[in-house]
Amino acid sequence: MYFFSALMYNEFGDNMTKRNQTKQVLVGDVVIGGNNEVIIQTMTTTKTNDIEATVHQIKELATAGAKIVRLAIFDMDDAKAIKQIKKEVNVPIVADIHFSYQFALEAIKNGIDKIRINPGNIGSKDRIKKVVDACKEKNIPIRIGINSGSLEKEFKDKYGVTSEAMIESLKYHVGILEEFDFHDIVISLKSSSVKRAVEAYKMASELYEYPLHIGITEAGTKFGGTIKSSIGLGILLYEGIGSTIRVSLSTDPVEEVKVAKEILSALGLYKKPKIVSCPTCGRLQYNMFPLVEKVEAFLETIEDDITVAVMGCAVNGPGEASAADIGIAGGKGEGLIFVEGKIKRKVKEEVMFEELKKEIILYIEKTKA
Ligand code: SF4
Repeated sequence: MYFFSALMYNEFGDNMTKRNQTKQVLVGDVVIGGNNEVIIQTMTTTKTNDIEATVHQIKELATAGAKIVRLAIFDMDDAKAIKQIKKEVNVPIVADIHFSYQFALEAIKNGIDKIRINPGNIGSKDRIKKVVDACKEKNIPIRIGINSGSLEKEFKDKYGVTSEAMIESLKYHVGILEEFDFHDIVISLKSSSVKRAVEAYKMASELYEYPLHIGITEAGTKFGGTIKSSIGLGILLYEGIGSTIRVSLSTDPVEEVKVAKEILSALGLYKKPKIVSCPTCGRLQYNMFPLVEKVEAFLETIEDDITVAVMGCAVNGPGEASAADIGIAGGKGEGLIFVEGKIKRKVKEEVMFEELKKEIILYIEKTKA
C-alpha cells in the first residue's frame, strides 16, 4: 500500500515541503517523516488488558486504513498485555503513557513499537535515562505529546494557555531527550482550539526537523469534530506540515480513520475512490440521493484511485460526469453514463446503480490490466 513518493506532493508544486525535510522515524515497519506518505493513526477505546477486545479493535482499525494504532497504558496489566497483543496484530502499536516510567519499561520489554510519553513527567533523571536507554536499545521512538489542556504551571503562568506556552513546554521536553542524546522523536502539539494548534504546529515546524504528528484534540462529535479537524489538519497539510495524522472524535475510532482518509484524499495525499455529486436543485428529475448513497457505499469497498460523478441534470451534469473517470448525468427517469469523458449509453432510473457499478468494475479491471 505504500505507493506514495515525494512526487505525490507535487500536486501542490511543493515537493520541498517541511514535511519532506523531516527526519524519518521508524515505527515497526512504518516510516513517519521524510518523503513517505502521511500516516493515518488512531487509538483504541478498549481496556488494553482486555486482550481479545483490544486485538479485535486493532484489526478493525487496520482494515479501515489505520497504519499505526495507539493504546492507553493505564496500569501494569495494560503494559503486560502488550506482549500477547503484539503476537496477534500486524500493525505497529504505540503505548500511550503519562507518568510511569515502569509502565514504559514494561511496554518496551513486551515489544511495543513506539511510546508516547513526556520525559519531563517521568520524574528523576535516573528514571528518564532508564526509559531512554531501553528505547535506544530496541530502536523505539518516543512521541512527545504537548497538550494545551495539561501545560506545566510555569509556562501557563508566563504565557497563558497559548501556542507560545505549548512551544516552551515542547522545548523543555525535547531538551531533556536531546540531553540524553536521544533523537528518535516525533512531536505533537494538540489543542481543542484549531487556531492555537495550527499556530503551535507552524512554530514547531520551523524549530525542529522531527516529524510532526498532527491532530486537533478533543475535536468533538462526529459532525462538529470532523469540521474542526478538517479545517485544522487541512491548513497544516496544505502548507506541507504533518507527517502523521490522528482525527479525534467522540465516536467509534473507525470513523476517525475514515475522516482522516477523506482529509488526506481531498488534498491529494491519499489514493482512494472519490465521489463527485451535486447538491441537487429544482432541475432534478430523478431520485438522486439514494443513488449517491449506494455508489458511496460501493466505493467504500474498493481502494482504487477512481473518481465517480453522480449528477442531477443535463445542465451542469455532463461537464462533471465527463470530467470524472465514470459519471452519470440524470434526466427524467433516465440518465446518461459517461466513461472516461465520453457518453457510453442511456440507462433507465431503476438500473442506474447496477449499470454504474458495472462500468466502475470494468474501468478498474482495464486500468489494472
Ligand atoms: S447538476 Fe443540475 S440538478 Fe444538480 S445542482 Fe446542478 S443544476 Fe441542479
